[in-house]
Amino acid sequence: MSPCLGCALSSLSIEDQEDVQFPYAMRDLPPISQSTPTEPNGRLKSSSGTSSLPCSIYFPPTGSPTVPPRRNHAGLDPQFLPLRKQIVSQVSLESPLSPASLPRSPWGRPDPYDSPEDQDKEYVGFATLPNQVHRKTVKKGFTFTVMVAGESGLGKSTLINSLFLTDLYKERKVPNAEERIGQTVDIVKHMIGIEEKGIKLRLTIIDTPGFGDAVNNIKSWKHIEDYIDQQFEQFFRDESGLNRKNIQDNRVHCLLYFVSPFGHGLRPLDVECMKALHEKVNIIPLLAKADSLTQAEILKKKMKIREDIRQFGVNIYQFPDCDSDEDEDLKTQEQFLKDSIPFAVIGSNIQVESKGRKFRGRSYPWGVVEVENPVHSDFLLLRNMLVRTHMQDLKDVTREIHYENYRAQCIQNMTRMMVLERKRSLREKYREGYEADFPLPLAVVDTEKERQIFEKDEELRKMQEVLERIQEQIQQGQ
Ligand code: GDP
Repeated sequence: MSPCLGCALSSLSIEDQEDVQFPYAMRDLPPISQSTPTEPNGRLKSSSGTSSLPCSIYFPPTGSPTVPPRRNHAGLDPQFLPLRKQIVSQVSLESPLSPASLPRSPWGRPDPYDSPEDQDKEYVGFATLPNQVHRKTVKKGFTFTVMVAGESGLGKSTLINSLFLTDLYKERKVPNAEERIGQTVDIVKHMIGIEEKGIKLRLTIIDTPGFGDAVNNIKSWKHIEDYIDQQFEQFFRDESGLNRKNIQDNRVHCLLYFVSPFGHGLRPLDVECMKALHEKVNIIPLLAKADSLTQAEILKKKMKIREDIRQFGVNIYQFPDCDSDEDEDLKTQEQFLKDSIPFAVIGSNIQVESKGRKFRGRSYPWGVVEVENPVHSDFLLLRNMLVRTHMQDLKDVTREIHYENYRAQCIQNMTRMMVLERKRSLREKYREGYEADFPLPLAVVDTEKERQIFEKDEELRKMQEVLERIQEQIQQGQ
C-alpha cells in the first residue's frame, strides 16, 4: 500500500467541512512554484518506468516549494504584494511594516498579481476568482462514483484494489457453481474516504456480483440499469425539494466494463448490456487480465473490440476533443488515450520483489509483470485518466448529458400525466355542465383543441352506448 493513501483512509463526510478543519486541509496543499520543472497545467513526466510510453503520463506538481520567496523592488515579500495597493491607501509604503502586520493571503495560493511588472498597474482584482473557487471546492471535498461490471473471475475486485490502493473485498464470499445457476445480480456499494495532500475524495465503488454468471443472463443488466436510474431519481427528488443545500450526489460517473481476454471481441451479453446502459452512464471498456495475452494478441483483441463497438452502435465514453490551440503534448496524450481503448489491464493485490525492487505485480515461473509498468499494461493510463485527467469530465458528462436526459424525460412524463389528469377533470366538469367553473390552465392550452377532443370523446361514448344496446337486443332475440 502506498504510504500516502493507505494510511490516510478514513471515512469522510462530503458535506461542507467545518471552517476549523480548513486551514489544515489548505496547509497540505502543494503550492505551485513558478520555477518547478513542470509543463503547462502543472504536469510532470512520470519518473519511474514510464519513459517507454509513447507519450508522457502526467503527474500533478507535488512537494514543497522549490523557490525561495522573491523580494520585490519595494522589499516586500511577494505574498504581500497583491495587497500593496490596499495597504498604500491606508498607510504609507515608507512606513515600517513588519510582515506580521500585513494582511496575509488567506489561502496561500500564488497570487495572479504577484509579478514585478504588475506592481505599477491598476487592477480590479478578479483574476483571483479561480483561487476563490479552488478554496471552496477543496473545502467541500470531492466525490466520485465508479461502477464495475463483467463476468466473475475477470479480476474486477483485484483491479479496484490496485487502482485505489485499498483492500475493499476482505469479507467477500465467492458463490459456488450451484449457487450461481440461478443467481441474480447484486448491487454492492463500498464507500471510502481518501485524503491526499489535503484534498479529500469520497470514492464510491459499485460492484455488481453475479452479472453474467447465471445460466440464463437475459436482462441480467436490468438491476444495474435500475440502480443507475434510482440514483438519478434520488438526485432529481433532492434537487426539486426544499433542502437543496446538502444534496448527496450518488450518481454513477463511470462504468468500468470488463471484457474477457479469452473471447473473440465482445460477447452478445456485452453488447446487449452496454447498449442498455450507454445512454445512462459513461462506459469505459477494459480488456481484463492482459498478462494472459501476448503483445500481438492484445493489439488484435483491442482492434476487434473497437470494431464491435462501432459495428453494434455502442456509445462508450468519448474523450473530449482538444481545441486546436491546445498544446501539442496534450493533443498527443488525448489521441493516445483514444487509441488505447479498451484499456488492457492487469491487477494484483500483492507486492513482488525483483532485481532489488518491490512493486505491485504478479510473479510467474518465467518472470514478473508489473502492474504499473506501461509496457506491461494500460493500468497506469487508466488510473491517470480516471483520477488525474478526466475525473471532472466524467462528472460533467454525467451531469450534462446522462442526468439531463433522465431529467428531461421525467419532466416530459410528469407533464403528460398532468395534461391527462386535467383532461379527465375537464371532461367530468363538461359532463356535469360546470362550464362556468372552468379551471385555470396550468400551461398554455389550446382550448379549441380541448373542446374538439371532448366532443369526439362524447361521440365515441354515445356510439358505444348504441353498440351496447344493439348487442343487448341481439342477445334478447336469440
Ligand atoms: P472478480 O470476480 O472479477 O472480482 O475477480 P477477482 O479480482 O476476484 O480475481 C479472480 C482471480 O483472477 C484471482 O485469482 C485473481 O488473483 C486473478 N486475477 C486478478 N487480476 C488478474 C490479472 O490481471 N491477471 C491474472 N492473470 N489474474 C488475475
